[in-house]
Amino acid sequence: MVKIGVLALQGAVREHVRSLQAEDTEVVIIKKAAQLEEVDGLVFPGGESTTMRRLINQYDFFEPLKTFGKSGKPIFGTCAGLILMASEITGEDSAHLELMNMKVQRNAFGRQRESFETTLDVKGVAEDLRAVFIRAPLIEEVGEQVEVLSTYNGEIVAAREGHYLTCSFHPELTDDFRLHRFFVTMVKEATQNRVR
Ligand code: GLN
Repeated sequence: MVKIGVLALQGAVREHVRSLQAEDTEVVIIKKAAQLEEVDGLVFPGGESTTMRRLINQYDFFEPLKTFGKSGKPIFGTCAGLILMASEITGEDSAHLELMNMKVQRNAFGRQRESFETTLDVKGVAEDLRAVFIRAPLIEEVGEQVEVLSTYNGEIVAAREGHYLTCSFHPELTDDFRLHRFFVTMVKEATQNRVR
């Protein structure tokens, strides 16, 4: 059974734990950087990206998270987690972990649509994935190596770049576990490749 960590500094941690457990994984709630050694993959939950960044600095997670990403172990970032992974944030001077080659815009869906639920076609995952958007970001531009997995009204809302997976919505707030299942498969594949 693969071991997957959920970064537990802030945000929708418990919900991701539940979704990952439903997909037969051992879940580790990550509160200290040293725990990263134990896991084969990692989830960055939704929440508030500036708060998360502050806590990443405060608890000395910045370099260990970059190293984790560079080691080839898969990371799945949702909503605020997507913002943490981006190489560029519209209107801001600097980004955070800069793991994925993409430019993102925070709170991109406007006031009246701050929260909504819809069904998305996500390539390789499902044609009708349930997705909850809460003050969600969108992906404005992606680099060549980034594969767009889903769009909503023409805007990119899910993407993959090698061992990095990301989406601007909250798959952990529904009982539709198919995107988590997809990530678990990525983790299993990465683990097998490492062992070989
Ligand atoms: N708007 C939040 C941010 O900028 C993200 C919202 C979310 O994770 N639900 O960090």
